[in-house]
Amino acid sequence: RLAEAIEHEIDPPASILSTEEIERFQLETDLLLAWEHQEFELFYQPLVSLEDGATIGFEALVRWQHPTRGCISPAVFIPCAEKIGSIDQLGLWVLHQACSQLKVWQEQFPQKPPLTVSVNVSSVQLSQSDLPDRIREICKDTGIAPGSLRLEITESSSIENSERAMTSLEQLKAMGIQLYLDDFGTGYSSLSRLQDLRVDVLKIDRSFVSQKKWEVIWSIILLAESLGLEVIAEGVETTDDLEKLRLLGCKRVQGFLFSEPINAQEATDWIGTPFAH
Ligand code: C2E
Ligand code: MG
Ligand code: MG
Ligand code: MG
Repeated sequence: RLAEAIEHEIDPPASILSTEEIERFQLETDLLLAWEHQEFELFYQPLVSLEDGATIGFEALVRWQHPTRGCISPAVFIPCAEKIGSIDQLGLWVLHQACSQLKVWQEQFPQKPPLTVSVNVSSVQLSQSDLPDRIREICKDTGIAPGSLRLEITESSSIENSERAMTSLEQLKAMGIQLYLDDFGTGYSSLSRLQDLRVDVLKIDRSFVSQKKWEVIWSIILLAESLGLEVIAEGVETTDDLEKLRLLGCKRVQGFLFSEPINAQEATDWIGTPFAH
């Protein structure tokens, strides 16, 4: 029995943590350290008007340059940041960074209407923090008009069922901030609540473009029109896609055909060379 016990003791605790769990735990630890090491950077992807080819603004997309694993996708580490409770800090950093960069661009490249920036906010951010107050401060600090800022939210039951989040959206709208509904058509979709969310723009999810679901895209464009909303098509990768979208009446697009997300300096060069793209 003693032998048995000893054997038991020295057995690796394989059943306690799976490899997956160990990896996730490691990621969470690294994410906490990423702050001190300043491993986050904001990238920007141009939003282009199909009417005149002009750059309307940029979507800010966060990047994490991990010391050993390279660039980790926000699709991976944002949910992780939400879990460990650092999404508020990260989200506010992203907002501040995006707004100060926008201020620089607006001064360097005055245009009518002024350049805009859109920032992704998760439902966790919306329901947990006093986001409207923080954003008001950030606009003041950085000197940008709230009318130049767009927030991208996704359809989610946690927004629609949270009074806090809905109130926050109301307050943000009242400040003059536009709301984009991201990944439209893929989420928890209740068309009847679409108006409650008070969004200004539907971003057609890139899966519809990549799968060439033109009937669906056309339906979304008609829906938006009848609700008085604008649309932006994301994930435009080919000139064929672009021509099709143009025929369907889409006026604003975003995608690798124009540019991948690029760093602030590259984005500055991008605005500085109009119509070269
Ligand atoms: P999203 O907001 O829907 O952003 C669009 C994603 O599609 C970006 O991926 C972008 O790089 C990618 N994309 C754009 N055009 C094309 C294209 O033509 N083809 C293909 N294949 N992909 C394209 P990314 O940067 O990896 O971001 C993934 C998601 O992570 C975002 O989806 C957004 O939900 C989230 N995210 C990114 N930055 C932030 C942030 O600062 N805060 C929060 N809460 N979420 C963020
Ligand atoms: Mg987005
Ligand atoms: Mg999107
Ligand atoms: Mg997406």
